[in-house]
Amino acid sequence: MSTASTAIPLGDGSSIVPLPLDPNAPQRRDQDFDAPVGRTSGQGVAGLAELTDVERSERLRKMHEGDLGSVHSWELVTAVDGPGTRLTVFLNGCGLRCLYCHNPDTFLMKDGTPVETGEILSRIKRYRRIFKATGGGLTLSGGEAMMQPEFVRKILRGAKEMGVHTCLDTSGFLGANCDDAMLDDLDLVLLDVKSGDPDTYHRVTSGRLQPTIDFGDRLAARGTTRVWIRFVLVPGLTDAKENIEAIGRIISAWKNVIDRVEVLPFHQMGRDKWRSLELKYELEETKPPTPEATEEVREYFRSLGFEVH
Ligand code: SF4
Repeated sequence: MSTASTAIPLGDGSSIVPLPLDPNAPQRRDQDFDAPVGRTSGQGVAGLAELTDVERSERLRKMHEGDLGSVHSWELVTAVDGPGTRLTVFLNGCGLRCLYCHNPDTFLMKDGTPVETGEILSRIKRYRRIFKATGGGLTLSGGEAMMQPEFVRKILRGAKEMGVHTCLDTSGFLGANCDDAMLDDLDLVLLDVKSGDPDTYHRVTSGRLQPTIDFGDRLAARGTTRVWIRFVLVPGLTDAKENIEAIGRIISAWKNVIDRVEVLPFHQMGRDKWRSLELKYELEETKPPTPEATEEVREYFRSLGFEVH
């Protein structure tokens, strides 16, 4: 991972100094849109033109065709969301309801800001030099980005036409929406395997595990897109030995495409958002796992031959 700390010119007279990753900060996970780790600039959709004057039917047509998306925020990050310094764009809408979600404000597509594809592509273009200097690129995250496949498709295509490294952060729950043409434009998938036992998976997410397995199987069979696995370790919820060993069995079948496994210790950084949205937060009393417990799980995945973080 790059931790570049020298100023990188943007080509428009300005420059940016990506912050190095703070080794003492809690590790970021897929749902931590506001996590401070490695964040360098931007919050919300600042700088992206918001569409407010488009008729509803026109807006829906544009969304259907992938020219418009519902966006939560974007951020420039270093050493998270994939290699190097990355523009991570968080899209609104998610079909899962993970108990530990740190961004329940992304659950609904209607709560996002309508942003045109061209706006995202302009921003990607602006940061191309940073991506090149740091080995970074674009990451599409959420919510669940695959709720808006046509929007994702056009952004990925545009990024690849600029020669930018692309990454999708996904639960795989809607992996069927990611067709082969999109996978051709994807260099890396951050695949969140939230549990290996189907019942536990359902308890954590309210969704089914099988679509994630199917997506991972497809990625492994194609062999062209690299994969980082992410697993959030939550005491009393996902930390049963059987659950973790089930994950081990599932991902062992994808070894040809997996470059790393990330075991992310649960923390309470999202609790306030649940409160502010007046949603019932079930993990109020849950403590983060101890460093020893986290390391034990990491060691298990290492024993299967994975590079583990
Ligand atoms: S998959 Fe959806 S519900 Fe689960 S953590 Fe991510 S954004 Fe939240």
